[in-house]
Amino acid sequence: MPLLWCLLGLVASSVCAASPVRDRVSDTGATRHKLLLISFDGFRWDYDRDVETPNLDKLAEDGVKAAYVTPPFLTITSPSHFTMLTGRYIENHGVIHNIWFNTTTQEKKQYYMTQFVDSYWDNGSLPIWITAQRQGLKAGSLHFPGTAATYKGETVRVRQVEPRFYDHSNETDWRLNIDKVIGEWFHQHDLDFVSLYFGEPDSTGHSYGPDSPERQNMVRQVDRTIGYIRNKIQDYGLTEQLNVIITADHGMSTVLRGGLVEEIILSKIPGFSFRDIEFQLLDYGPVGMLLPKEGMLEKVYEALRGAHPHLHVFKKEDVPARLHYSNHPRLLPIILIADPGYIVNGLLPVHYSKGEHGFDNDLMDMKAFFRAVGPDFQKNLLVGPFDMVDLYPLMCHLLGISPETNDGHLDNTKHMLVSKTNTGEDKDRVQKNPDMDVMIGLSAAVGVLLLVFVIATSYIMWKRTKA
Ligand SMILES: [Zn+2]
Repeated sequence: MPLLWCLLGLVASSVCAASPVRDRVSDTGATRHKLLLISFDGFRWDYDRDVETPNLDKLAEDGVKAAYVTPPFLTITSPSHFTMLTGRYIENHGVIHNIWFNTTTQEKKQYYMTQFVDSYWDNGSLPIWITAQRQGLKAGSLHFPGTAATYKGETVRVRQVEPRFYDHSNETDWRLNIDKVIGEWFHQHDLDFVSLYFGEPDSTGHSYGPDSPERQNMVRQVDRTIGYIRNKIQDYGLTEQLNVIITADHGMSTVLRGGLVEEIILSKIPGFSFRDIEFQLLDYGPVGMLLPKEGMLEKVYEALRGAHPHLHVFKKEDVPARLHYSNHPRLLPIILIADPGYIVNGLLPVHYSKGEHGFDNDLMDMKAFFRAVGPDFQKNLLVGPFDMVDLYPLMCHLLGISPETNDGHLDNTKHMLVSKTNTGEDKDRVQKNPDMDVMIGLSAAVGVLLLVFVIATSYIMWKRTKA
């Protein structure tokens, strides 16, 4: 009988060898890599044009560079980052401003404190961290807007929220944060997705203006940081496992001042009175919002309309549809949008920054930069512009998760990917089911065993007959 045992052993070992290895395989059957999303706040699309940026250039050589990304309107930090995380226009996700406000109590919370108002963020759209976690992945976030909030009872499980009054420009801190994300979160804890936020070059752009040497210096710091990130990824052996997307929430434009222009100051507009206003959101850059007292809407609207050649006054429902900033109950009935270079002031000009954003997203100064590198991205590829909402479906595709309802289209970004992941073919083909693999393997083994049994029995019978 040794022949039989030999055959049985052979069958058993071949079944073992054929068992599917549960690698990082997504539901679509494609190999799933990790993803790091990095945002450098206010990094305008063309900030690499007047500064030497060897690391950004190398990144473009090794990966994909887009001409620019069009952020959603209103082009400011929290709303735009939440579009990155949800793929929804601002009127659809409802994080309409950096400032949380209550028109009844007149209360306003600034950017930092707004991060902790759960109901402001958890407003019907789920950020990608929660979706990834619900589909079995491990997600993390460091300093990214929206990180502190709880969504449908769930937070991003691994997170670090910056302390109040945090210095967002400290390069030593940047490196510690990178060490944490790459060394601890990706390497040690094996996270699948992390979003990482840096508050520059936005602050420097505000303080000194987008054309200043200070802003150029900060771009050099960003460039060094990108070199540092790529070295860390290599040190931990993650280069072939980790896709990296680096982008920004908006750009930056120079504010016109110094007697060169007639500033927009609402209190100086004839026929306009703050006595007619119930609640106002003014002095936050180029966009303002007003809630007139009952019965005063037409009066306020007529007083402001055409009052300044660089101020556009809209009833909320008349804001141009392309801006997607009209259809949300949190938006106030009158929306004021200034032309490039202008700021909407209330009583007095209290706003002294040299650079500003928040303008119409059609303005080139508002466009953000974009680079991507990693196993799923093509190399040395320059692509045209796309909209920020299109980033979300791309990230879901890379992570192999089913997206929530969103306003983006994978068709607008998938050409950046290497052919095996960019065709969408993996979606259309029959879903690869590991249980099915096991069934096929077992059936084959049973078949072989039956064959062996028949051959062995016949052999024994033949030998007996011969004997
Ligand atoms: Zn910003």
